[in-house]
Amino acid sequence: MSGLLFIVAAPSGAGKTTLVHRLLAQKPDIALSISCTTRAPRPNEVDGRDYHFLDAARFQRMIEAGDFLEWAQVHGNFYGTSRRFIEDARDTGRDVLLEIDWQGAAQVRKVFPDAIGVFILPPSLDALAARLHDRASDSADVIARRLAAAREEMRHAGDFSYVIINDDLDAALAQFVSIVEAARLEFLNQKKRHPDLFHHLISA
Ligand code: 5GP
Repeated sequence: MSGLLFIVAAPSGAGKTTLVHRLLAQKPDIALSISCTTRAPRPNEVDGRDYHFLDAARFQRMIEAGDFLEWAQVHGNFYGTSRRFIEDARDTGRDVLLEIDWQGAAQVRKVFPDAIGVFILPPSLDALAARLHDRASDSADVIARRLAAAREEMRHAGDFSYVIINDDLDAALAQFVSIVEAARLEFLNQKKRHPDLFHHLISA
């Protein structure tokens, strides 16, 4: 049995990570994919919890070994999703959530066309810029690059089925929960989750 696959993308500074963590606190049965990256850890980040932090040589070997379901270069660093993690989680029927960029989302969609895409937008460009400036751990140069990249990322919002505008965090979270619940309530997904009931009530 395979679970649902949620792909969540957003420009840097839209509040994606906070929203995802709040969602997972409410829906602990969703497995969050921990990506691999060659980016250096930020001060508050923990290896194995936020990312698997790897050097470029190791990342390259993993690409060559076919270990990634998708990988992409984002802001000058490499990021990739472990194929094994996704397959193992889905095989046990768990829903999986990927927090990746639009390039990765496009690759995943080719393999899993049923993946449910959710794009998170900021309420305005000013709000986005302010949030990027508040992230003191990144240098001014990095912030400028991220703002330019954010504009590029947002151009791909139309590739995603759902859009959340993250103005008020509680409202955005409620919308995110609604998307997950609606996806789980689709006929075929309900049938997969309750095969005996469906057999007795509908197809018997
Ligand atoms: P950050 O360095 O701020 O954590 O993430 C930068 C960007 O890389 C974000 O857009 C994030 O979604 C994306 N990203 C994180 N993990 C992956 C991944 O495994 N694959 C891809 N394609 N993008 C990722």
